[in-house]
Order: sequence, then C-alpha cells, then structure tokens
Amino acid sequence: MKADPAIQLRLLDLQALDAGLDRLAARRRGLPELAVITERTAALGTLDDEVVGVRTELGDVTRAQRKLETEIELVRTRSARDSQRLESGAVTNSRELENLQAELASLARRQGVLEDDALEKMEAVEGLEGQLAALSQRRADLQAEIDAATIARDKAYAEIDTETARLRQDREALAPRLPEALVTLYERIRASSGGVGAAPLLRRRCQGCHLELSGGDLRAVAAAPVDEVVRCEECRRILVRTPESGL
Ligand SMILES: [Zn+2]
Repeated sequence: MKADPAIQLRLLDLQALDAGLDRLAARRRGLPELAVITERTAALGTLDDEVVGVRTELGDVTRAQRKLETEIELVRTRSARDSQRLESGAVTNSRELENLQAELASLARRQGVLEDDALEKMEAVEGLEGQLAALSQRRADLQAEIDAATIARDKAYAEIDTETARLRQDREALAPRLPEALVTLYERIRASSGGVGAAPLLRRRCQGCHLELSGGDLRAVAAAPVDEVVRCEECRRILVRTPESGL
C-alpha cells in the first residue's frame, strides 16, 4: 500500500486520538466509584434483611411481654381480692383460711416468676431496639457513601464525556482526510493488536511492540520508497517513519 509520508504522519495523529478515546472509555468503565456503589448497595441489601429479622424478633418479644403483663395483672387482681377477703375477717373457718393463705403464697410465687420473665423480655426489647438503632445508623452511613460516590461518578462521567466528545470531533475531522483503504487497514490491525494499529519507528525501535528492528529489517525499511506503507516484521503494525527513526 502507498501513502504520502505526510499522510502516514497524520495516521499517527489518528492513532493518538483513538488511544485517547480508548483510555477515556477504560476510565469510564473502571471508575473506583462504580465499585463503591456496587459494594455498598449490596451491603445495604444485606442490612435491610437484617433489619427485617430484628423487627420480626422485636414484634415477637413485644407480644410476649404484653401477654406477661396481662397475666401479672390477673395474678395481682386475684391476690388483692384474696388479701381483702383475709383482712375483712369474713373468713373464719380455719381450713378455708389455710387455703386462702396457701393460694396467696402461690400467687406471690407466680407473680415473682412472671415479673422475672417480664423483666427479661424488657431487657430483650431494649437490646433489639439498640440493634435497630445501630443498623439504622449503619444504613444512613452506607446511603451517604452511595450518594457521595454517585455524585463523584456523575462528575467524572461529565468530564470524561466532554473530553470524549472533543476527541471524537477531532477524529471525525481527521479521518475523512486520510485514504479510506489506509484507515481500513489501520482499523483492522488496531482491532486485533490491542488498540494500536500504527506506530512510529523511533530510534530503530517499533513503538507498537517496543522491539528494536534487526539490521536486515532496518535496511529494508530504509530502502523502501518514502510513500510505501511499511509494516513491523514483529507485530505487523503499520510502522511510520519519522525524522527520529534512526535510519
Ligand atoms: Zn512492532
């Protein structure tokens, strides 16, 4: 393939624009904020599951607590009624008195057990409420981190997109000025060679694969007509001769 040396140098400009666009696209995909958002959002999901679990437990314990309070109230009422009967002097039969006293003692024991249980439930409620408060704080922290990362991501996106639009504009202005066949060849090589289709030859080294050309290859490149599009024998990229090629 033939192309004017000046055109070959413009191909390097096209390569520089494409490399810039590739770097911007890679930066957009690899923004650290994206990983933060993904990770924190997953953590938020796990946290919400945990909140549901604690709330369910809190509901169960609160119901059990209310039930105990109702039972305690019943025992107290019955105990008060028995005490009143005992103190009123209305019961005179010794057997009946004994029964009444035995029941009062039994009710007192029962009340003690129920009150211990109620206290335990109260402590459990406090513990669960504390857990919910901690989870709620953690949730707020995570949400704040997600919000901050989202703002930072959008700012970076805006910068990247502005720069991308600028490079695309330059590329669209440059590409039509190059021979179509040359651009097609360049794009084909670029697609199969890690984004680099054309590279300058600098100080006897191909800047595509960074290998130094052998004496024979160097002589062949030097001997090729200036408008000949030469290729690196190592990486097959388009090798553009420049005043710094060392030929
Ligand atoms: Zn090479």
